[in-house]
Amino acid sequence: MTDNRETRESSLELARASFRNVGIYDPNMPPCRVDLSDNTNLWGAPPSARLAVEDTDASSLTRYPAPYTRQLNTVLAGYLGVEPGMIVAGCGSDDILDSAIRAFADPGDTLAQLDPTFGMIRVFATVNGLTLAPIPLTTARTAEAVLETGARVIYLCSPNNPTGDVLDPATIESIVAGAAGIVIIDEAYAEFSGVTSVGLLSKYDNLLITRTLSKAFGLAGLRIGYAAGSPEIVREVEKSRGPYKVSSIAERAAVAAVSNDRAWMREKADAVLVNREKFATRLKELGLDPKDSRANFILLPVADANAVGGRMAGQGIAVRALTDLAGIGDALRISIGPWPMMEECLAALQSALS
Ligand SMILES: *Cc1c(COP(=O)(O)O)cnc(C)c1O
Repeated sequence: MTDNRETRESSLELARASFRNVGIYDPNMPPCRVDLSDNTNLWGAPPSARLAVEDTDASSLTRYPAPYTRQLNTVLAGYLGVEPGMIVAGCGSDDILDSAIRAFADPGDTLAQLDPTFGMIRVFATVNGLTLAPIPLTTARTAEAVLETGARVIYLCSPNNPTGDVLDPATIESIVAGAAGIVIIDEAYAEFSGVTSVGLLSKYDNLLITRTLSKAFGLAGLRIGYAAGSPEIVREVEKSRGPYKVSSIAERAAVAAVSNDRAWMREKADAVLVNREKFATRLKELGLDPKDSRANFILLPVADANAVGGRMAGQGIAVRALTDLAGIGDALRISIGPWPMMEECLAALQSALS
C-alpha cells in the first residue's frame, strides 16, 4: 500500500488551487458595548418573531423542516406583491447569492460588479471559480461599461453597501435589458430607500432580486434571505441551494414577523431615517464629509480608517473600517440606531479623530 501523505507538501494541496487563496471571513472586531458595524436592527427583534421562537414546541425539533419553505414563500410573495412561485428563501441572502452564482455561471465565466460594493460577492465569485470584473462606481455611462464586460452574472446593489446610494432606475433597466446573462439586484436595504426594481419582474425574465430579513426586519440571527424572480429562475436557484436550508424555527419566526410585524419594522426604519439625517448633520458640523445615504448606515471618508476604527473600538464603539475603496479611499461605515447610541458614537469619533 502506498502512502499518499509523502507526495504532498501539506494537506492544503487537497483544496482546489483557485480556492486556497480565499481568506476566511473575519470581521476583525472585538466585542463592543455599542455595535454599529453590521447594519442590523439596533432596536431589537420584532415581537411576533420573539413569541414564535418562545412558543416553539421543542419536541418538534426532531423532525426536518419543510424542504422548500412554501409557507414562508407565500408570505414573502404577499409582502413584495408577486406570485408565491416567484420566491426562493435561504440561509441568509448570502446563501441565495452564492447559490445563484453557482446556478448561472460556469467556472471561468465573468461576474461584473460596481466597485466598491458588498464584499461577499468577491468571495462567492472566487469560491465558484469566476473572474471578477469590477467597474468603478464613478464610471460615466455605467450601463455601457457594465454591459461591455459581457458578464454571465451582473451584480448590482441598491442601496449600495458601503456607499449607501441608490442606482438610477434607468441605468438598472438598461443593464437588465442589455445583459447577456442574469442580473442580480441586491436590495438588502430597500426598506430604507423605498426604491425597488420588483416592478421590472413583469417585463424581464433575466432578473433576480435579493432581499433579507437580517437588516430592517431585525432577524440576522435567524439567517433568512430570499429572492424574487421568474418561476424558472427561482427554480434554478432552489436546485442550486438544495433542500432544508431554512430551519423550522427560523421559518416559523419569519412567517410571524413578515405577517404581523410590518408596522413595527416601518416604525424602526422611519426612526433610522430621522436619526441618519440628524447624525449626518452633526458630522458635517464637525467639518466631516459623510456620503448621502438611502440605507441604515453612513459612509464617512476618513484618513487611516483602521487606526480611527481601532481607537473607537477602544472606547467600546464598533464601526466598520474600510480601506482603499475605489474613488473614495479609507472610510468608516457606521450603522444608524437609537439616538443615544449615535451620541456615544459621535463622542468616540471626535476623540478618535483628535
Ligand atoms: C447584509 C447584507 C447581505 C447579507 O444578508 P444576509 O441575508 O444576512 O445574508 C446581503 N447583501 C448586502 C448588500 C448586505 O449588506
